[in-house]
Order: sequence, then structure tokens, then C-alpha cells
Amino acid sequence: MRCPVDKSDLIVVEYNKIELDHCTQCHGVWFDAGELELLFKSLDLESYYQFMRDIILDSDEAKTSEKRRKCPICSSRMWKKSIGEQPVALIDVCRHGHGFWFDGGEVIQVIKQLAEKLTSKQDSQHRVIDFLGEVIKV
Ligand SMILES: [Zn+2]
Ligand SMILES: [Zn+2]
Repeated sequence: MRCPVDKSDLIVVEYNKIELDHCTQCHGVWFDAGELELLFKSLDLESYYQFMRDIILDSDEAKTSEKRRKCPICSSRMWKKSIGEQPVALIDVCRHGHGFWFDGGEVIQVIKQLAEKLTSKQDSQHRVIDFLGEVIKV
């Protein structure tokens, strides 16, 4: 699979059965739709996954001058959606539901925002966030 930003080959990274595709050039991360769900499950944020997915799918496209990117799976132009709050992350979503692209750092930002809303299972959340930080090197 190729990076939608710079066309580098994406490398597969695995942790706790979560597989994600990472670009070593721009540090972006591609999640297949199911993988993002697994990630949130491992953070005990399953209900937030549903919540976030709905926000992503139902929200209007973000107004941005950022270039439209193509889904690494089907090559359709992806939607730009904004999620989170201060700062807002701009993510790319395949309109056919293949998955989500996060620019380097955005996934951490989004998950940290969500994790801050929860108090239980801090340890497992921190482990996953540490893992992502390690992969993405933010
Ligand atoms: Zn890249
Ligand atoms: Zn697609």
C-alpha cells in the first residue's frame, strides 16, 4: 500500500493484534476501518469509536485548502473531516468505508483527547498511546 501523501510504501506495524500502516516519510498512519475499531477496543473506548465514527461519517466535509488525497485501497478521492476540539484534527476518510488516514501526530492527538475523558484503565490506555507515539515518533 502506498502513502496517500507522498507515495512511499507504507510499513505494517503490529501491536496487540492491531495492525496499522505507517509512512516513515511523513509519519502518517492508515487504519483500515476494522483496525481503528480494534484500537479503540484495546483502549476501552469502544463506545467512543461508535461515537467518533458517526461524527466522522455524518459531519460535513471540512473546509480546507489541504489537497484531496486518494484512498490507498480504492484510489477514490477521500473526504476531509474534522474531529476533536482544540486543536481540531483533519483526517481523510475513504468514502467507500475502507478506512481513515491520519497525518503524523493527529491520531495521538485524537486519542489523547478521548482518553482524557475517561478515568478507568489508565494503564492500558497509556500503553497504547505510548505504542502509537513510538510508531509515529511525535
Ligand atoms: Zn507519507
Ligand atoms: Zn477506499
